[in-house]
Amino acid sequence: MFSNIRIVLVETSHPGNIGAAARAMKNMSLEHLYLVSPVNYPHADAFARAAGANDVLNNAVVVDSLEQAIADCTQVFGASARMRTLKWPQYSPAEAAKVIKKTSQTSSVALVFGRERTGLSNEELQLCHYLVNIPSNDQFSSLNLAAAVQVLAYELFQVLQQPVEKVEAVNADEMPVTQDEMQRYFKHLEEVLVKIDFLDPEHPKKLMRRLHRLYNRAQPDQREINILRGILSAVEKEMQGRNR
Ligand code: SAH
Repeated sequence: MFSNIRIVLVETSHPGNIGAAARAMKNMSLEHLYLVSPVNYPHADAFARAAGANDVLNNAVVVDSLEQAIADCTQVFGASARMRTLKWPQYSPAEAAKVIKKTSQTSSVALVFGRERTGLSNEELQLCHYLVNIPSNDQFSSLNLAAAVQVLAYELFQVLQQPVEKVEAVNADEMPVTQDEMQRYFKHLEEVLVKIDFLDPEHPKKLMRRLHRLYNRAQPDQREINILRGILSAVEKEMQGRNR
């Protein structure tokens, strides 16, 4: 369970925050850290602030994009201090911890944190199934990055300490799809929507974001995503036939 949970930090500016996050993780028995294009890393400040959680830093996986960091995850939680214009399903830290515990028994889950100044972009948010908000002062709601990691890691630790409810074994075709497979589907969907003139690439509005939210809510399994892919391929085949 602990080993199926990863913490992802997106474009962190201050290496000290990376170190402090690593320490917070190790205190709460989490060990998998992913860094998406850290601004200044590796850096001595990270090791200084890790206060001995060097193994977490040494094993950290550095990647170029959030997509890469979560490719093999079936569920993604984005920690966010702000409410968004397009509302996204949201959990409290304690609720999120329960869901993460369940999912992490069978597959990988990511908990994603944004940049110190600007948090997560809307495109990054689209890759998240849920937002997690740490309740705080309305007038001063944004926690320090490593402090936010600490709060959520603590909530997880509390829940993961409790005995596990047995989960039923599922068939391969009932397994939830990974984010990598979902992103490939979204790309295909977008291409087809453009081809059939449903989506105007010049004026996309919020269509793809709304569709991401819809599919993320449904969390299709393998069999379902195969059906959805098959529908797109059939549409393309039909269009090719007509164009002949
Ligand atoms: N000004 C930024 C805040 C960035 S703080 C913004 O408006 O989004 C850096 C990161 O710490 C955030 O992206 C988020 O992942 C996490 N964080 C900070 N405060 C939080 C809170 N109250 N709830 C959940 N996550 C929080």
